[in-house]
Amino acid sequence: MSEKEYIAKNFIEEIIDHDNETHKYDNRVHTRFPPEPNGYLHIGHAKSICLNFSLAKKYQGKTNLRFDDTNPTTEDVEYVDSIRNDIRWLGFDWEDREFYSSDYFDQMYEMARQLIIKGKAYVDDSSAAEMADMKGTPTIPGKNSPYYSRSVEENISLFEKMKNGELEEGSCALRARIDMASPNMIMRDPVIYRIKKATHHRTGDTWNIYPMYDFAHCISDSIEKITHSICTLEFEVHRPLYDWLLIELGLYRPQQIEFARLNLTYTMMSKRKLLKLVESKTVAGWDDPRMPTISGMRRRGYPAAAIREFAHGVGIAKRDNMIEVELLEYHVREELNKIAERVMVVFDPIEIEITNYADGKEETLHIEINPEDEQAGKREVPFTKHLLIESDDFMEVPPPKYFRLSPGGYVRLKGAYIIKCEGLEKNSDGSIRKILASYVENSRSGEDQSGIKVSGTIHWVSAPHALRAEVRNYNRLFTQLNPSESNPLDGNGETNDADDFLRLVNPESVKTIQVYAEPYLKNAPVGKAYQFIRKGYYVPDTTSSDGQLVFNQTVALKDAWKKKN
Ligand code: ATP
Ligand code: MG
Repeated sequence: MSEKEYIAKNFIEEIIDHDNETHKYDNRVHTRFPPEPNGYLHIGHAKSICLNFSLAKKYQGKTNLRFDDTNPTTEDVEYVDSIRNDIRWLGFDWEDREFYSSDYFDQMYEMARQLIIKGKAYVDDSSAAEMADMKGTPTIPGKNSPYYSRSVEENISLFEKMKNGELEEGSCALRARIDMASPNMIMRDPVIYRIKKATHHRTGDTWNIYPMYDFAHCISDSIEKITHSICTLEFEVHRPLYDWLLIELGLYRPQQIEFARLNLTYTMMSKRKLLKLVESKTVAGWDDPRMPTISGMRRRGYPAAAIREFAHGVGIAKRDNMIEVELLEYHVREELNKIAERVMVVFDPIEIEITNYADGKEETLHIEINPEDEQAGKREVPFTKHLLIESDDFMEVPPPKYFRLSPGGYVRLKGAYIIKCEGLEKNSDGSIRKILASYVENSRSGEDQSGIKVSGTIHWVSAPHALRAEVRNYNRLFTQLNPSESNPLDGNGETNDADDFLRLVNPESVKTIQVYAEPYLKNAPVGKAYQFIRKGYYVPDTTSSDGQLVFNQTVALKDAWKKKN
């Protein structure tokens, strides 16, 4: 990969360096990315993917892809496939190391039995509400369950009954026996296995019990001989449990390291809420170009390299913070400026007739595809008597210092000739039907001998050649700076209905318009980057109702982030 290496070491690298000095893991670096296949990946996951894969690469180590599939009711193969696809697209390769927590269900069951035999786990028949009641609070110690002191034999037999489907969902659960008075609530005898009679997308109906995340995760990391298990800050309080389980089981122990999750302004990153947007048809799907998902960003035209640059650029923090979404857009523009082909597309046309250009004459101009890339070459652009320009590139009564077209004034047509506005044809209601202009014959771009100085250059298309296309311009899906905050509309800080955030969706997040494009775009491939000169970056999309070209706006040209900083 061509990206810059980190300049300063981040705190995770410092930990790894130290581990290497002490040979804690025989100088191995083995990370993993552990998505739960219950939704599509978003930009926050991209951050974690870049971190895990880049760290391993930097230390000549390895990264596993592990699907953390311990909750069959919300997981699906559709998500597994999308996750694989998105990671590959981001430019990372897990080679043959694709694993599933469910691969280890047999071993996990056996390990849970070992804990029971050691007297470190028990089956609790208390209901979820009763367990919560007995849990205490951070300042009040919890109480032992009435089932706390069951014999090993009884526990083994009950756990087997749970496994065999002989007990009802919710009737009991297996808990680690740790310490109901621990100041860390996570350590107050956490549930490690629960009954769930659901069909799993990989193991089918084999299991009636499924391990909880905390139990499955550390064991999966251990089995895979992960060295540095990187996760987000909310798992810091789970680390003692991670360590406790592996120590009690006598297993190899990776080092869990927490970093601050990526939060972006104006961006919702909870998978549950993103699912809600999809299910409620607020957006067209997980890959809707307005979604903060990797698939949405891909369809929006964000280059993978820009996402990687952004992920590296924001660095690794130990405290929660909020990154401005404009920084991501800045990286998208930087990358697109290098690779996007320049084309001319008129959004809101007004006709212009070149009065001194012969009827039926057609010239082929050769205009450079990308001034930032000499290899890009030139494209053919037809020039004729009848052209279209943007209606706001003309003003009948211009203000001072108006550099575009006005009566009697000159302007350059991008890549073509200098023209002079000679007059107007008007409709009966006084509106302009057509601009009449003359062209300066020896002023062709690249061979201009006219000596005329013009201060404005405008884009145009030949009217008889213009392709009709649909353009989708996007606005933020949420106009709220932090749409994840609870109840932001009321401002009283109380949590209310979980779907309430749907009220925050911007009703004007997409605007579709019909435009006129130069013929070069005729076979524009889906996903290719274009800059519509003076308009923004756009990407061809697949969906079109009637075979018409459709373009998604990737990002506007102006760079709010760069200006501010
Ligand atoms: P969500 O909260 O959106 O449901 P999750 O954390 O439950 O996400 P997982 O599939 O468990 O989703 O996440 C896989 C990995 O991605 C985890 O290691 C998690 O820590 C990491 N991750 C998820 N969201 C972010 C984020 N915003 N920033 C950095 N890493 C993230
Ligand atoms: Mg998670």
